Amino acid sequence: MCMKREDITSELQSSALRSTDVLVIGGAGAGLRAAIAAAEQGVKVALASKLPAGGMSNTAITAGWFTRSTEKSADELFYQVVYTGGYLNNQRLVEVFVKEVQDKMPQLRQYGVDLFSEDVSSRIDKPGHYQVRRIEGKSRGYGLTQPLRDTAEKIGVEILDNVMVTELLTSNQAVVGATAVDLEKNQFFVISAKSTVLATGGGARAYERSDNAEGTTGDGFALAYRAGAELVDIECISFNLPHARMEAIFTVKNPPDEEILSIGGCHYFLGGVKIDEKAGCNLDGLYAAGEVTGGLFGAARLGGSAMADTIVFGAIAGEKAAERAKSISMPVIDQTQVDAEEKWLTQMFDGGDQSPEFVSDANKELRSKPSEVASKIRSTLWRYVGTMKTDVTLLKARQELDAIMPLVNAQRVQNMTDLRTAIEARNMLDLGRVIVAASTLRKETRGCYWRIDYPKPDNENWLKNIIVTKDGDALKTKIQDAIMTKLRVPTDPPIGPGCFGYTR
Ligand SMILES: Cc1cc2nc3c(=O)[nH]c(=O)nc-3n(C[C@H](O)[C@H](O)[C@H](O)COP(=O)(O)OP(=O)(O)OC[C@H]3O[C@@H](n4cnc5c(N)ncnc54)[C@H](O)[C@@H]3O)c2cc1C
Repeated sequence: MCMKREDITSELQSSALRSTDVLVIGGAGAGLRAAIAAAEQGVKVALASKLPAGGMSNTAITAGWFTRSTEKSADELFYQVVYTGGYLNNQRLVEVFVKEVQDKMPQLRQYGVDLFSEDVSSRIDKPGHYQVRRIEGKSRGYGLTQPLRDTAEKIGVEILDNVMVTELLTSNQAVVGATAVDLEKNQFFVISAKSTVLATGGGARAYERSDNAEGTTGDGFALAYRAGAELVDIECISFNLPHARMEAIFTVKNPPDEEILSIGGCHYFLGGVKIDEKAGCNLDGLYAAGEVTGGLFGAARLGGSAMADTIVFGAIAGEKAAERAKSISMPVIDQTQVDAEEKWLTQMFDGGDQSPEFVSDANKELRSKPSEVASKIRSTLWRYVGTMKTDVTLLKARQELDAIMPLVNAQRVQNMTDLRTAIEARNMLDLGRVIVAASTLRKETRGCYWRIDYPKPDNENWLKNIIVTKDGDALKTKIQDAIMTKLRVPTDPPIGPGCFGYTR
C-alpha cells in the first residue's frame, strides 16, 4: 500500500489534537504498570504502544525470573545490586528499589498475575540470585503483560495499539505531550498531556545481533535526548557472551578480529534516562521507568532485577505523573514543533514536501531506503561499539555514523512499514552517536562495559557517571561522581558478561 502525503496528514487536519492527563509511551511491563498506577489515582490515562500493548515486547519474552526480597534480605540485596553494578549505581535509587520491591512484586497478584515463589537460596546455577528468593511468573512474560493489559483496560486506560510516538513536545523545559503516527490507520496526530511517562524499553535491536524482541530500537532514549533529557551511563550495555570466551577476548590484539566480532549479541541497556527517586528527570512533566532509564543498575545487573525494576519504578512513575497532572492545567502545544515533525515525516513519501532542505541535490542523489539505512547503523554499532571497543573502533564508529547521517534525512518511504523503519533509523542514529560519545570518554573496563585498550576498572578516575545531553545540534557530555549513600569503598569491582552471577 503506497501512502501519499494526504493520507498521513488527514487525521491531523480533521481531528487534530487529542489530550489526556497522563500519556504513557510503551505497552509492556513498565508502561502497563505505570498506566494502572496513574488510572488508580483517578486521572485520564492514554497508553500508546508501537506494537500492541501486552503483546510482543521484551517483557513478553522474558525468561520470567523476577527479583524478590523481604525486609530481612533488603540490606543483602542492596549490597548485591551495588557490588554487581561496579559501584556506578545511583544508590538513592537502589534504596527505593530494595524497599519497594518487597511489596510491589507480590502485589502483582491483585492484577491477576499468577506468580509462584521458589526458594532458590541454594541454587547458584542461574546467575545473579544467590541468597535472594525469587518469584517466577507462569507463561513467561505474557503471564505478566496480558493480565496487566486486562486490568488497565478495566480501570479505564485508553489503549492506543500500533501507535508510535515520534517526538516529545516541549515548552519551557517541560514535556507537554508528543507527536505520534498510527501505523494501522496511517494517521499523524498530536497528544497533549499534563504528564508523560516514557516506558519504551531498551535499544538492543540497534545492534546487528541481539536476543531482544522486535521494536526494541531505543526510541525512548532518542526521544528523551532530543527533548533535552539527560541520559546517564548509556555506554553500559550488556552483551550475551559465553563465559569461557571472556579471558581469551582480553588477550586479543587491537582492533578485534572477525572471530571476536561474531561472538554474542546485544542484550540489555543498563544506562538511559537519568531518573530520580520519583521517576522524574531534568524535564518537568517527564517520568520514565523500566529499561529506558539509567542509574539503578550501574555497570551491570543481577538476573531477574530488570523485571522487578519495571514494576517498582513503573508504579512510582504512574503515581507521580498522576499527582502532577492533578495539580496543573492542560499545557499549550507549540505548533512549530508539530509542524517541523509533520514536515519531516511527510517529506519522505513520494510526492511529499519538496522544500530545498529535503530535496537538496545531495539528498536527491542519496534517496535512501529505510531498511538499508537501518542495517548500516546496526552493523556499524555491532562492529565498532559492541562487546569489544577500543579508541580505534570508536573513532571508526563516529566516522561511519557521521557518513550515515545524511542518508537518514534522505530516506524515501512507500508505506507505513517503511515509515516505521525510517523513524527507528533516526532514533538508532541518535542513540548510536550518544553511545559512541560516552564510550569514548570512559577509559576503563567495569561490569558489562569492556574496553580492550583499558582492560581494568579504574577506581581512581572512573567511579563516575557520564551524562549526555543535546545542546542545539551538538552533543554535550559531563562527568559526575557516582551517587553513593551507603557503600563507599569498592575493593574489587567485578568484570564479566551481562547479567552475570553474584558470588562472595
Ligand atoms: C530474551 C530475554 C529474556 C529476559 N529475561 C529476563 C528475566 O528472566 N528477568 C528479568 O528481570 N529480565 C529479563 N530480561 C530483561 C527484561 O525482559 C527487560 O529489561 C524488560 O522486559 C523491559 O521492560 P520495559 O517495559 O522497560 O520495556 P519492553 O518490554 O521492551 O517494552 C517496551 C514497550 O514500548 C513500546 N515502544 C517502543 N518504542 C515505542 C514508540 N516509539 N512509541 C510507542 N511505543 C513504543 C514497545 O512496543 C513495547 O510495548 C530479558 C530480556 C530478554 C530479551
